[in-house]
Amino acid sequence: MAENDNRKDDNTTEYEKVCFICRRPESVAGKMIDLPNHICVCPDCMQKSFDAMNNGGFDYSQFMNMAGAPMMGFTGGADGENEVPKRQRLKKKKADEEKTPILNIRDIPAPHKIKAQLDEYVVGQEHAKKAMSVAVYNHYKRVATDMMDEIEIEKSNMLMIGPTGSGKTYLVRTLARLLDVPLAITDATSLTEAGYIGDDIESVVSKLLAAADNDVEKAEQGIIFIDEIDKIAKKKSTSQRDVSGESVQQGMLKLLEGSEVEVPVGANSKNAMVPLTTVNTKNILFICGGAFPDLDRIIKARLAKNSSIGFGADLKDKFDHDKKILEKVTIEDLRTFGMIPEFLGRLPIIFTLQGLNEEMLVKILQEPKNAILKQYQKLLALDEVKLDFDEESLHSIAKKAMEKDTGARALRAIIEEFMLDIMYEIPKDDSIGQVTITGAYIEGIGGPIIHLRGQEVPRIEGSGTY
Ligand code: ADP
Repeated sequence: MAENDNRKDDNTTEYEKVCFICRRPESVAGKMIDLPNHICVCPDCMQKSFDAMNNGGFDYSQFMNMAGAPMMGFTGGADGENEVPKRQRLKKKKADEEKTPILNIRDIPAPHKIKAQLDEYVVGQEHAKKAMSVAVYNHYKRVATDMMDEIEIEKSNMLMIGPTGSGKTYLVRTLARLLDVPLAITDATSLTEAGYIGDDIESVVSKLLAAADNDVEKAEQGIIFIDEIDKIAKKKSTSQRDVSGESVQQGMLKLLEGSEVEVPVGANSKNAMVPLTTVNTKNILFICGGAFPDLDRIIKARLAKNSSIGFGADLKDKFDHDKKILEKVTIEDLRTFGMIPEFLGRLPIIFTLQGLNEEMLVKILQEPKNAILKQYQKLLALDEVKLDFDEESLHSIAKKAMEKDTGARALRAIIEEFMLDIMYEIPKDDSIGQVTITGAYIEGIGGPIIHLRGQEVPRIEGSGTY
């Protein structure tokens, strides 16, 4: 069978054997010893088994029975042959001599080119895009040159601060796609110190490995985005052990800096059933993002304290109305917020994103390459219907989105609500050639303008009727 053939091919080329007992792959544990039932054991474990038997404490026949048990997943191939299931195998690391860097220094686009690409998708956030382009450029330059001389370039891990829906995740996603590197997105709220309920900190690396198709080499040059990083700030009350706050920050230090991590392959947690592999995080770019609510108050308090001394004392109130207050953030403010200095020290690039205003939301609706309106226009174009939005309707949608206070995320929900009728009704009537969405339709006080095919004079209809 075709599927079985593939599996056999994989077995001989891209995948390597994993020790049945200790789960280490062949490249780590040494040449495997093949046992019946297509089980492999590494020399160390084999030796240990013999030692145990010699001491009279190990029943070898039991061991074999256990190996054949269906719970181990060894149910055999369709042609009756027992095969090691694919998820029990690891993609082999390529031999050193044939290692070609995924990103060659000459292939890394210059910062202005990275930014120009980002501009096509992300509206506004000029400073964030610029800071990110330079950081990414430097990071991959560092990866490419690695240890050319004794001057080691520092990692450019980033911390993004910006309100919800301002495009943090979107920026990272776009960047990873442009650079064609694997990306893992996780939420810091789900992380806890090892041994507690929740995901281990190292699970972020196994997510990246999964995103890289279990290819360790690819994963080692990927990007990990940790969202909601403000949620792991030090907790104020100290009566309980802070397993999801400060300890997580502590636990992440090594990852951010670069260390060898043992991660399970094809699963989120380590257990006896999944093979482990080692991933080095030295060249993984970590980007943390968070909304940091109330950080503005901390900044204001600091600025006010400084200005209350001497001549600046009368300027105290002006910070209350400063829309760009977040840009004035310092490491000190983040420490006050609850981030530990060691953690901040490993995120040298800190920048802020602006909250989106009405103008920006209008642009987001129509300008990016894959703008929501363009998506709907394309859908209707397939029915040979032209879809238009008048200026007023765009502002009405943006205004409604502003009220929800969830940034650009609200846009899609609002549009979907009123487009439902349109998308339902239009295909019913072949004579409709063009639909113009009006401000009145968005406000619920009018209808869209319908143009019939070959008809010059527009016909205005009531809401929802065509
Ligand atoms: P958050 O900052 O909370 O991570 P997201 O990045 O998830 O926000 O943004 C939600 C959605 O809003 C994105 O999927 C994207 O479509 C849209 N969006 C947000 N900001 C922008 C922007 N500046 N330009 C274009 N689209 C944006």
